[in-house]
Amino acid sequence: MLRDLFFKHLAQTSEEPPGIEIVRGKGVFLYDKKGKEYIDLISGISVSNTGHTHPQIVKAVEDQVRSFSHIMVYGEDILEPQVKLAQKLCLLTEEGLDNVFFVNSGTEAVEGAVKLAKRYTGRPNIVSFRNSYHGSSHLCLSLMSPNPLNISYRPLVPGIVNCTYNDQMALESINEGSACVIIEPVQGEAGAVPADKSFLENLRKKCTETGTLLIFDEVQTGMGRTGAWFAFKDYKVIPDIIVLAKALGGGMPLGAFISSREIMKVLSYNPALGHITTFGGHPVSCAASLAAIEVLEKNRYIEQVNEKEKLFRKLLVHPLIKEITGKGLLLAVHLEDDMLVKKLLALLIEKGVISDWFLFKDTAIRIAPPLIIDENTIVMACNLILEALDQI
Ligand code: PMP
Repeated sequence: MLRDLFFKHLAQTSEEPPGIEIVRGKGVFLYDKKGKEYIDLISGISVSNTGHTHPQIVKAVEDQVRSFSHIMVYGEDILEPQVKLAQKLCLLTEEGLDNVFFVNSGTEAVEGAVKLAKRYTGRPNIVSFRNSYHGSSHLCLSLMSPNPLNISYRPLVPGIVNCTYNDQMALESINEGSACVIIEPVQGEAGAVPADKSFLENLRKKCTETGTLLIFDEVQTGMGRTGAWFAFKDYKVIPDIIVLAKALGGGMPLGAFISSREIMKVLSYNPALGHITTFGGHPVSCAASLAAIEVLEKNRYIEQVNEKEKLFRKLLVHPLIKEITGKGLLLAVHLEDDMLVKKLLALLIEKGVISDWFLFKDTAIRIAPPLIIDENTIVMACNLILEALDQI
């Protein structure tokens, strides 16, 4: 039995994993080994923006594997899928973010971005925010406020000042010793908490005044999830470095940090090889990414995100729902307590809907479906959620 082998040979990350055995995916639907259909409301945590097994992405992957797969991928040799993708990303970001460093994951992109800021400014300190999630490495754990995820892994990385999100007091912590401020424009794992526009504007101003680099972690918000290619576009606040991963790879592993050529070039000297990676920017992942971008563009999926958000908000009205927070298709449906959330999630699995709670907000469920979800499926998902809430 696969299930027994899973428990025997795979490291688990919690004591009671749900252990759903998905064998197939198509569009916004997933299927288990008994053929049961599930609506995917989490997209593998904001990854599958174009749904599952999109034929154009499958073809791009197949074509790339056939021509070449791994060579050597950290900015020394010219690999067509990387170059084309970098050019495309720079067109999408505009605003002087014209140089891309490809890596494997969000965690690695955050590591690279923070290293870049330290190296460029020559400064030691980093400002980050409570309830942020930036990844699971030592640096990323250090960027979080003290919590059960990082408490057992001390000593953490020094020089980090942790401030309260959306609190102007944070500005006081930014000074000539700060290499960077790193922030999610919408805090994902805190339970889909958008930044106040004025807060981001003031951060931008203070960073410019003090020569501190502003890093936006758009690992969850990027690639269309909040209704624009990147959340910074909506806020009209331009960071010095943007961090991407998750949906970037069209379902394949890919991360990137993007900055200006002037800033990025410091990674190439004194010392050279300022950040290196064996698999970062894998040609197959880059090919999948290019295809995913094309699918999103051609079908104008990102332009439809705000309407889809409105529909979820309109339909999800129930006495047990306290509020819905978030932006675009990165939404949190807040209930009274964590027990209600646990019961609701279990009922939803029975009914064929996959959702999840948030790392730092166990009193809310996640609505982050593939951006390609259509109106009928939204209505179907919301009806099943309301039905489950009635049953609790
Ligand atoms: N930043 C944010 C905002 C994230 O949500 C995540 C993953 N949930 C990461 C970074 C880390 O990405 P990865 O898991 O690919 O390392």
